[in-house]
Amino acid sequence: MNKCIFLDRDGVLNVDRVDYVYRIEDLIIPEGTIEAIQRMKKAGYLLIVITNQSGIAKGIYTREDVLKCHEYFQEQCGHLLDDLYFCPHHENFNSASLTRKPNSLMIEKAIAKYNIDRETSWMIGDAHRDIKAGQRAGIKTIHLTEKPEESFSVITTTTLLEASKIIVPEV
Ligand SMILES: [Mg+2]
Repeated sequence: MNKCIFLDRDGVLNVDRVDYVYRIEDLIIPEGTIEAIQRMKKAGYLLIVITNQSGIAKGIYTREDVLKCHEYFQEQCGHLLDDLYFCPHHENFNSASLTRKPNSLMIEKAIAKYNIDRETSWMIGDAHRDIKAGQRAGIKTIHLTEKPEESFSVITTTTLLEASKIIVPEV
């Protein structure tokens, strides 16, 4: 079985915006992010992005925009991401879906496809719904947050690099 680190995208791999990130020029990758990805990859984890992209259901951008951003991200990190799942739906835009976090269906699909062991796997996210999705899938979570007292994840940090060092203390 494989061990995996599931990663939220906006606010974890790239700087989030109040509006949506769908243009490559808005995709700002914080310092330390690529190092974190390399560290986790080197330790033998699959790295799979799990992202809500309801801007598609809202008509703000298209699937092609999302795929272009993902291709750009792969180029920046040397194609170390094993897969990227995105949920285009939103319940208020006529398309409720169990794939949309805090539901866990995207994670469940990846677990089935890649033969992932829940015991050794993690979800890293910056929103409560990421943590909920991880908990529903029965995996450990790390919440990137400035307000640890409000988090219901056992482990919290403020950056992906710190999170990667918790999961992989030695390289
Ligand atoms: Mg996020």
